[in-house]
Amino acid sequence: MKNRLALALALALGLAAPSFAADKPAQPAPTAAKADMATNPFAKPSTLPFQYPAFDKIKNEHFAPAFEAGMTEHRAEIDAIADAKDAPTFDNTIVAMEKSGQLLNRATTVFFNLSGANTNDDIEKIQSEMAPKLSAHQDAIALNPKLFARVQALYDKRDTLGLDAEGKRLVERYYTDFVRAGAKLSEADKAKLKGMNAELATLQTQFSQNMLKENNASAVIVDSKDELKGMSDEAIAAAAEAAKQRKLDGKYVIALQNTSGQPALAQLQNRALRERLQKASVTRASHGGEFDNRAIVAKVAKIRAERAALMGYENHAAYTLEDETAKTVKAVNDRLAQLAPAAVANAKKEAADLQAMIDKEKGGFQLAPWDWSYYAEKVRSEKYSFDESQLRPYFEYDNVLKNGVFFAANKLYGLSFKERKDLPVYNPDVRVFDVFDADNKQLAIFLVDWYARDNKRGGAWMNEYVSQSGLFGTHPVVANHLNIPKPPQGEPTLMTFDEVNTAFHEFGHALHGMFSNVKYPRFSGTSVPRDFVEYPSQVNEMWMTWPEIMKNYAKHYKTGAPIPQELVDKVVAAQKFNQGFATTEYLGAALLDQSWHQIKANQAPEAAGVLDFEAAALKKAGVDFAPVPPRYRSSYFSHIMGGYAAGYYAYIWSEVLDADSVEWFKENGGLSRKNGDHFRQTLLSRGGSVDAMQLFKDFRGRDPDVKPLLERRGLTAK
Ligand SMILES: [Zn+2]
Repeated sequence: MKNRLALALALALGLAAPSFAADKPAQPAPTAAKADMATNPFAKPSTLPFQYPAFDKIKNEHFAPAFEAGMTEHRAEIDAIADAKDAPTFDNTIVAMEKSGQLLNRATTVFFNLSGANTNDDIEKIQSEMAPKLSAHQDAIALNPKLFARVQALYDKRDTLGLDAEGKRLVERYYTDFVRAGAKLSEADKAKLKGMNAELATLQTQFSQNMLKENNASAVIVDSKDELKGMSDEAIAAAAEAAKQRKLDGKYVIALQNTSGQPALAQLQNRALRERLQKASVTRASHGGEFDNRAIVAKVAKIRAERAALMGYENHAAYTLEDETAKTVKAVNDRLAQLAPAAVANAKKEAADLQAMIDKEKGGFQLAPWDWSYYAEKVRSEKYSFDESQLRPYFEYDNVLKNGVFFAANKLYGLSFKERKDLPVYNPDVRVFDVFDADNKQLAIFLVDWYARDNKRGGAWMNEYVSQSGLFGTHPVVANHLNIPKPPQGEPTLMTFDEVNTAFHEFGHALHGMFSNVKYPRFSGTSVPRDFVEYPSQVNEMWMTWPEIMKNYAKHYKTGAPIPQELVDKVVAAQKFNQGFATTEYLGAALLDQSWHQIKANQAPEAAGVLDFEAAALKKAGVDFAPVPPRYRSSYFSHIMGGYAAGYYAYIWSEVLDADSVEWFKENGGLSRKNGDHFRQTLLSRGGSVDAMQLFKDFRGRDPDVKPLLERRGLTAK
């Protein structure tokens, strides 16, 4: 996942309400509102290398004054542009906007990164208070008629301005951003739009804050070690440690991951506990109580539908998809419908194998959702004669990071990494690396924040503290976040296959940010369409199991012995295993997302009807296969409350490009500097400065082919 909050300006102009979001607006922030900006660490760019944030100086009380001062400053800059007597030029209008809002950008970038990675009560209160204010601030810019008139004038004569390709694209991008943000609406409709945006910002904040609290509240507490039979020693130690953190010494806490499925389900022998864990997961935020999200989900869907109608679109999906590479609702629906029947058929075949295993063991029960992972592991170990637990000793944190993720980047791009301990961090678990290019020039700073915490949202994501831009001469400061359970002091961190895969995935986003070589901040790094942004990160996953890479990092944490070739072969061979399940649960979520965003306002249910709406949507799409629940259910589907609304299909959409690119690497000899440099040159360094599908063509030499994806997911005609 890519967290898209970095660029305050992009955010300022996007209609899609930001994926931060808010609580009841009343609570005053715990700050002295008129604190002196002179001593505020956001007042000036950080003097640390690459403008790395001065985390040691940044305190909660600095945020609200910096936001207020930042909005005032930004508004003054924008007014000066809009009210200028001079005729509009590219420099005095478009470039001036690119340069505006820096104080606000510095403060919001750090704030929203911390609200995801290391939040606290103060941050949550500030977030609740600021969400509607920031939304209003964005609208005040995007809906300023004098400003838009200047943008429109430049857009109309863009071919005669003597601009280079990136400059011309910037004019077009600004024009599109303004129009999509409502610049062409009547003043009465603009007022309605502002109200909707503010309400959405508040609802979304409330959703994300509920999620964090509900995840913690729903964690499964286990009284005795006996019940945990089947779990690895490391996982048991992590569960004991998690209990200790909550002052439940002697007990065990199985923390919940964001997804419906939970890793422990693959290991727990105790069927009753599996059922308890699974149910705790899938009923999250929909069983009543303080953190129930059903009313928010229903309201957000309704307001988005109303807003889309106001903007002249059939529904929210139509509005969103127009600006993606998919372009239309039909294109997305067709793709999902093309994949769903074969995926569900595969899942049903897999279910039959699992049932056979249950029967062979004389289980005497029908396969239920909480049995899937557990019996899949058994079938996997029978078919491929290995299971997850054999891999984990070879997936030690430091080995994976330095000898895997970094090593692959060295082989492909010539990068080298040096850890530094002198820069401040917001949590002691965070590690900081200088990143050097092949010519030993420093390229970026990279933060590694891989451990789970109760004050960190679930899932995995990349974000940027500083984005590359030629205009400002800035270099990237990029972070990766995972949620690996932290072992007790002194114990090794042994990762699962999925966690290692996620580490490679997120680093693919990091490369996209670090290699950025564009002039304008609007186009920096990952500022590409949502259904394109996952593509480079997915490609980077291929190196996880690439034999030369795997042999280099997958070394036994005790003996240092490399992973046996035989085991590598088995892992590679097993990659198509359980794909029916994986594809079905993914498509379930993707179709659910589309269902919520392809309705008219009057079709949105009440809070009490949310689960029925969900069930009906899955049934209609033909993905209502009970043993395989959607990867996320509506009440804990954070993606679609935030920036992936009507956009969760993006993962499989971009996987077409990914699978086709993996073929390219294979056709051209795989792991090599030559191949890496070609990918970097044609695609990773270009950010959003060129049309996304053109970038793909520049890299691949032709349009994408869907066959490699169908092959990978086992969806080809039988
Ligand atoms: Zn991603």
